[in-house]
Amino acid sequence: MVDVLRQKGIWDEKVLAAMSRVERHFFVDMPFVNRAYEDSALPIGQEQTISQPYTVAFMTQALELKRGEKVLEVGTGSGYQAVILAMMGCRVFTIERHLLLVTRARKMFERFNLRIASKGGDGSVGWSEFAPFDAIIVTAGAPDIPQPLKDQLADGGRLVIPVGDREIQKLLVIRRLGAEFTQQEISGFKFVPLVGKNAWANGGA
Ligand code: SAH
Repeated sequence: MVDVLRQKGIWDEKVLAAMSRVERHFFVDMPFVNRAYEDSALPIGQEQTISQPYTVAFMTQALELKRGEKVLEVGTGSGYQAVILAMMGCRVFTIERHLLLVTRARKMFERFNLRIASKGGDGSVGWSEFAPFDAIIVTAGAPDIPQPLKDQLADGGRLVIPVGDREIQKLLVIRRLGAEFTQQEISGFKFVPLVGKNAWANGGA
């Protein structure tokens, strides 16, 4: 899997090392275990998916993480991305709206012996109690950038979020420098919808 990611242009060795250490087959549903190391998104129940490995690698690389940084993830899903972030040496906080997925992800964090803070709820409002964050990653597609996530970025912080319509999204990389925000766009990603107060109104089409 890591060789494929390298061929597709992922160059950050820290990201590749973290992804080679985490067995993805623990995170997918039983019928898909034999496909766990393909570069594709796979079902995890609740109509949600574990992101494609390339997408996980690309977004993690874009976050430009340093050890010890505080990272918020919105959309825990299977817990795979959160585990990768923790393996990069970051302090991870993650929010998921489907409680069943939160429970399952917590079992994964235990399995990997990682201390990751998680909660059930709407991550489109962020997690103000633990803000500011050095990095924020949103793993579901939003109609716009939720303002609370920008507010909860530390000075020098990076936010990676897919924004678009329900079909296709652009990956935005936002950087905060003091009161200024810069934005970079990368096109052609497809995510499940971000549903919440500062996001899509419901999970259906
Ligand atoms: N990072 C996950 C990918 C999960 S897909 C992984 O590694 O497996 C995106 C997830 O975002 C879904 O589980 C979905 O339920 C969740 N989600 C959607 N809207 C959300 C919201 N407002 N707050 C928190 N989670 C949300």
